[in-house]
Amino acid sequence: MIDIQWWRSGYDDQVHAFRGARVGQNFGEALCDHSVPTSLITQVDEGRRCIACLLMVGDLLATTQGDALWRAS
Ligand SMILES: [Zn+2]
Repeated sequence: MIDIQWWRSGYDDQVHAFRGARVGQNFGEALCDHSVPTSLITQVDEGRRCIACLLMVGDLLATTQGDALWRAS
């Protein structure tokens, strides 16, 4: 499983994919390079999701889980 959190940024009101390891610093950095002060991050995944982050998470899943995951039984 990849270590990301879907959290909402107060900068653009979109839900981005943040790497767990980055949490706790002054800035959160999303997979799409969106960076935002942690004080503006809301730890909820409700809202419009960032398309760039969605695509990058999809890529990560395909890489880490392999093709077998996507095959229909
Ligand atoms: Zn994003």
